[in-house]
Amino acid sequence: MQAMILNSLRTPLVWTTLPDREPAPGQIRVRVTACGVCRTDLHVVDGELPGPVLPVIPGHEIVGRIDALGSGVVGLSLGERVGIPWLGHTCGSCPYCFMNRENLCDHPVFTGFTRDGGFATAAIADARFAFPLGEAGTDVSLAPLLCAGLIGWRSLAIAGNGRKLGLYGFGAAAHIIAQVARWQGRSVYAFTRPGDGATQAFARTLGAVWAGGSDERPPDLLDAAIIFAPVGDLVPLALKAVRKGGRVVCAGIHMSDIPAFPYALLWEERELLSVANLTRQDGIDFLRQVPEMGIVTRTTTYRLEDANEALADLRAGRFEGAAVLVP
Ligand SMILES: [Zn+2]
Ligand SMILES: [Zn+2]
Repeated sequence: MQAMILNSLRTPLVWTTLPDREPAPGQIRVRVTACGVCRTDLHVVDGELPGPVLPVIPGHEIVGRIDALGSGVVGLSLGERVGIPWLGHTCGSCPYCFMNRENLCDHPVFTGFTRDGGFATAAIADARFAFPLGEAGTDVSLAPLLCAGLIGWRSLAIAGNGRKLGLYGFGAAAHIIAQVARWQGRSVYAFTRPGDGATQAFARTLGAVWAGGSDERPPDLLDAAIIFAPVGDLVPLALKAVRKGGRVVCAGIHMSDIPAFPYALLWEERELLSVANLTRQDGIDFLRQVPEMGIVTRTTTYRLEDANEALADLRAGRFEGAAVLVP
């Protein structure tokens, strides 16, 4: 198999040929057909997350077909198309697993971080954490749903049922969640980097009722806001934009420091929350509804060996929507 490997933090991924791997009991091997590039991959490469297991193959928005089954795998078959997300394994025995909050598991395994991921021609996964994807939709169009879509979905649920929803940072996750929110009958207010007219126009094509810079005040007070950009300065801005009792959800795995802000921004029962990882139930709930939601993902594809270019373009904001690697 071939892979783009992170050998040490803050260095480019290296194209490497590795011996083929066999799935252990309970695991599957997938021939990767597409793997999305997520902002978390940048945080992994940049050493901004604690506990990576190096060297590691990044990538946790994997779409592929099963080409080997470990012993004891039930419910999946050879040739079946599956998605492999960030949550690669949970212990099943810690207090969080017991309270149905496996996203907070004390002993998790994360795809592309503490276990090799999908920037490769093949990947090994725990069968219980892989999602059957059916045959609707192309591999490339589905890949961004595996993290941008799933984490966005969890963030949207945690944001509550408010009709007026702000999205700060209009990248891969927001461009999917804007479509979901519209399908749910909500109004989307898109906040981009100040002056980024191209992304604001992109947001309007996806049905945003308003799009502007993150330094602007929207025309209406918002019921809730989700912050996808890893920028702590956005927290007080979002609190300022939500109504009394409104909710601000930080959806990223990493964020720069949040500046001090007056208590008045939080007062009147505004809530500030974060979202961590996903549960398998999130994936089941989201993916089941994807066909009827009519999500169209905007993707820019790169060859697997061009993963470093994809990461650089993501960092610089050089495309709308999501980047996807194709082996
Ligand atoms: Zn656990
Ligand atoms: Zn991700």
